[in-house]
Amino acid sequence: MLEPNKKDIRLLSLEELINFFKNLGLPSYRAQQVYKWIWKKNVSTFTQMTDINKNLRQILEKEFFIAQASVVASYQSVDGSVKLQIKLPDNKIVETVLIPSKDRVTVCVSSQVGCSLGCTFCATGYMKMQRNLHAYEIYDQVFLAQKLALSYYQKPITNIVYMGMGEPLLNYNNVLQSINRITTPEGLGISPRRITLSTAGIAKMIKKLGDDQVKFEFALSLHATNDAKRSTIMPINESNSLSKLKEALIYFYNKTGTRITYEYILLHQFNDFVEDAQELVAICRWIPCKVNIIEYNPIEESNFQKSSNNRMFAFIEVLEKNGIIVNIRRSRGKDINGACGQLALKAQQLPCTK
Ligand code: SF4
Repeated sequence: MLEPNKKDIRLLSLEELINFFKNLGLPSYRAQQVYKWIWKKNVSTFTQMTDINKNLRQILEKEFFIAQASVVASYQSVDGSVKLQIKLPDNKIVETVLIPSKDRVTVCVSSQVGCSLGCTFCATGYMKMQRNLHAYEIYDQVFLAQKLALSYYQKPITNIVYMGMGEPLLNYNNVLQSINRITTPEGLGISPRRITLSTAGIAKMIKKLGDDQVKFEFALSLHATNDAKRSTIMPINESNSLSKLKEALIYFYNKTGTRITYEYILLHQFNDFVEDAQELVAICRWIPCKVNIIEYNPIEESNFQKSSNNRMFAFIEVLEKNGIIVNIRRSRGKDINGACGQLALKAQQLPCTK
């Protein structure tokens, strides 16, 4: 798909495309037409651009190629979730997961091939970090998932979460550009309030989100309430301690006014003690927030187990008694290794038939 002697047209911003046309002495609406074809309509060839004349199509063809991601395999879970393995133009693969529920269809997208952060409870953390995704490679995951959502569930995607493979804030520009394309009318026109970016906690970049006054939702993968425990399972905590995160979150909240979500995976007899819940209550006083309690999905690479229901409910009781909003996120797609923390390009037994 990559053509070494030509430029990848999907790496160009609308302004850059307008400049290209200006240099040819052509009006800017031509750039807007082409931009719509490569984003909203997501075509793979210039010949599909039926409102662009042949001469112009030939000029574009000479100068550029159109790179795209494509679905190479899909696996459906007994609970209805679907994991897609998506091939990028350089043949690398990432995973994207569609999660249907009663009133929504959520797509979980990847932002990097592999991940450099090495969280010990996460299968992606055991993979080698290979590269950042381009904005269009993230956008295409949503575009392809949209098509599949309509075919599998007869419903469009309602929510997008940046919680797949990789740390989105370590691919900041491409992630923000992808959100821009997903939310603008020339792209998919999805409201930013339906998008959640989740980070393992890069304090400097959380502040940058504040400076950029982003409009999407924001979640911090907290998973432990003191530095000693957090550094054990998330090495990034050594350089981004809870006090640094606190400062960054307060800064972010003051700039955006956005209530944040703490993601908290309950690991049996590691971070599910009542004392942990009490520490979490104190953290919840930093800025307005809610807590998502996530059921852990065991992975081969690690010995952690999920908390028992009794321990989970005792933990949640402490939070609720202190007025904290708590949602429980039950595991989805476990049988296809598509659940939270399980994305590691493993082959499955259950190929989709659709
Ligand atoms: S949890 Fe997220 S940041 Fe941590 S290793 Fe997995 S993909 Fe990377």
